[in-house]
Amino acid sequence: MHACPDCGALTQVHPEFSPWCQECNWNLDPTEEPQKLTFLDRKFRAFSEKVGAGLLETLGRQQQIDDLHRSEALTGRLAAALSLLVMSFAALLPVTAIAILATHYTEPSFIF
Ligand SMILES: [Zn+2]
Repeated sequence: MHACPDCGALTQVHPEFSPWCQECNWNLDPTEEPQKLTFLDRKFRAFSEKVGAGLLETLGRQQQIDDLHRSEALTGRLAAALSLLVMSFAALLPVTAIAILATHYTEPSFIF
């Protein structure tokens, strides 16, 4: 057993093969040369990581805004349905009054 130099996970070492870590893929390609970064490469990499983090934060905020708009649309539809229900009761009142007048007009108790 061998401890991974990157993550510290224990890896099995076979003498005929180069060691690699299945947890973090350390030394997965042993023929790969380690990158020698120039000053500009390091600056560009740092800048791109900073911009990437900003973009990720912006996307997270945009997702929150989209979720908020979706919930507002649902709330608006629910409010419209409730108001339609209330207004339909109000619209049925004259119809009910006319129906009562038409059906009970001849009864003696109609005039109190
Ligand atoms: Zn590892």
